[in-house]
Amino acid sequence: MIQVIQGDITKCSVDAIVNAANSSLLGGGGVDGAIHRAAGPELLAECRTLNGCKTGDAKITKGYRLPANYVIHTVGPVWQGGQNQEPELLASCYRRVLEIATERGLTSIAFPNISTGIYGFPKDKACTIAIETVQNFLEQHKTARLEIQFVCFDEVNYRLYQQKLAA
Ligand code: ADP
Repeated sequence: MIQVIQGDITKCSVDAIVNAANSSLLGGGGVDGAIHRAAGPELLAECRTLNGCKTGDAKITKGYRLPANYVIHTVGPVWQGGQNQEPELLASCYRRVLEIATERGLTSIAFPNISTGIYGFPKDKACTIAIETVQNFLEQHKTARLEIQFVCFDEVNYRLYQQKLAA
């Protein structure tokens, strides 16, 4: 099941929210900064033990002061024009998050619009990749009963997701 909402992912009461982190996993701006502020300093302390994360991969921590139980940190690609594996790496982010979630038996997962902020990935392209990758995963893992929320912060992304999911 896929839902689209507009809002702040730090407020989502789900099994896991996804963080669009950078490869250090030591905090940053945008959604990463908001998640660390809301989770409290224990989150950064756990992230320090993880030795970073490669682009396209993901790592899980507890959610600490967040309403979500876990945070799955993934590192999206920086948009460099599209010829540097950016689409494949973005798809890999969504897949790796869902693999980790299913390994842990987590079912409700909230995603931000990975790479579409500071990392500059075109929103329309990123939306198509996010939806197709998640739909394919759900199709292949029906017994996992995953409940996916795309949490759009800005109006442009919100409209794009609504349009593409209705199509
Ligand atoms: P990236 O570096 O992967 O581009 P950003 O954090 O800059 O990460 O942006 C990713 C997306 O997260 C953007 O669409 C941005 O609007 C959105 N965003 C920023 N703050 C929040 C928040 N509190 N909740 C949900 N999404 C957010």
